[in-house]
Amino acid sequence: MKNATFLGMPTFPDAAERALADSQLRRNLAHATATIRSRRAAAVAELDDWERLREAGRAVKERTLRRLDRYLVQLEERVTAAGGQVHWARDAEEANRIVVDLVRATGEREVLKVKSMATQEIGLNDALADAGIAAYETDLAELIVQLGQDRPSHILVPAIHRNRAEIREIFLRTMDAYGAPAPAGLDDDPRHLAEAARRHLREKFLRAKVAVSGVNFLVAETGTAVVVESEGNGRMCLTLPETLISVAGIEKVIPTWQDLEVFLQLLPRSSTGERMNPYTSTWTGTTAADGPRAFHLILLDGGRTEALADPVGRQALHCIRCSACLNVCPVYERVGGHAYGSVYPGPIGAVLSPQLRGTASDVDRSLPYASTLCGACYEACPVKIDIPELLLHLRARVVDQQRERLVPRPERLGMTAARWVLSAPWRLAAAQRAGAVAARLVGRRGPVGRLPGPLSRWTDARDAPVPATESFRAWWKRTRS
Ligand code: SF4
Repeated sequence: MKNATFLGMPTFPDAAERALADSQLRRNLAHATATIRSRRAAAVAELDDWERLREAGRAVKERTLRRLDRYLVQLEERVTAAGGQVHWARDAEEANRIVVDLVRATGEREVLKVKSMATQEIGLNDALADAGIAAYETDLAELIVQLGQDRPSHILVPAIHRNRAEIREIFLRTMDAYGAPAPAGLDDDPRHLAEAARRHLREKFLRAKVAVSGVNFLVAETGTAVVVESEGNGRMCLTLPETLISVAGIEKVIPTWQDLEVFLQLLPRSSTGERMNPYTSTWTGTTAADGPRAFHLILLDGGRTEALADPVGRQALHCIRCSACLNVCPVYERVGGHAYGSVYPGPIGAVLSPQLRGTASDVDRSLPYASTLCGACYEACPVKIDIPELLLHLRARVVDQQRERLVPRPERLGMTAARWVLSAPWRLAAAQRAGAVAARLVGRRGPVGRLPGPLSRWTDARDAPVPATESFRAWWKRTRS
């Protein structure tokens, strides 16, 4: 089954404008994010040393990225020694090819998937479908997205834009095409919806021979992979099939189990507002007479070494995908995740996607502007990623690119004119006098109406005040000289 993709999505401003017109979407988002926000706040307030934990998380990530090459090699050695096999993928195409070849080698035509952002990032489901291999999502929210031929819109709750009634309708309409149907008479009680999903997935768990997972952390000192989740479906995928293929970005590695201790406290409180994750699965290679017989770990670069080379931008690689920044973001809460045109929505998506994919496309160039720079994301981030700083850094990169390309954008022309006026006191004084004359002619206070031509893009979205009838300089001269 193919997924809907983000290819061909409009730029953020256009997509956001459309999303804002959807009042049902805004209601769903406001309700869901407010609920998660209050749970997180309560869970964080329980700890006296939350700020020190955040600082520890930031320090571990920073230290790891400085010696990432060493930890990755150590990880490969340990995984291999424990009976696993490590594959290196430069980009999405290479990662997809490796997975397809591994599945083909087993002779199977279907795989189970555990929720994984990395496999969404590389478009694995589509690559598998092109190779004649069916991929079934097992995370409840991912299942809803897949059955609805939809796109994920949140890191933790990919179907956050759907309400219960919509989910019921999707289950009744589509489940029977892919396995056990939804029970007739299914209502929108969350327990009944979860039960319908459980029945649908159970037979798949029992017959699956191959599973594909993501990874939350990779512990270099022992070669251990870690997945945290809430439903237990991940545990089934990680233990029942004969072959397990895990796809992870290279930034998922951490040096030791002691470092893991920090993140196992930060992640659940920041993501679901829980003290600990209901299910934490760890595995090291393969184990005789227990779990999968074959384990493959695919380490994905996908633009990460480029991001790593940027001393400011590399902060984005600290992300542990908790989604706290999404839930506190006033922009995300109003427009939802699809407007970001990427599997990584919200504030972290606005700084991660343009680094992983580059800023060649209009969509990626628009993302660093998808923020009010209020700083709520920085306050919420458990590993203290300074997202506002990153947004400004990437905006500067976009502007520099435009300058290099000599693109005559209205903004650029406006800035050139402003520089010319502001670089000579007599020009500024003349401009202020002209503004005062215009203000007297207009003869009113308050915002101007709609400005003509390209200037209307400013007044369509913001108030532009009428210039003062007397400039500060003129007032000073009149009253103090
Ligand atoms: S940037 Fe920080 S708050 Fe946002 S998802 Fe990543 S770790 Fe969580």
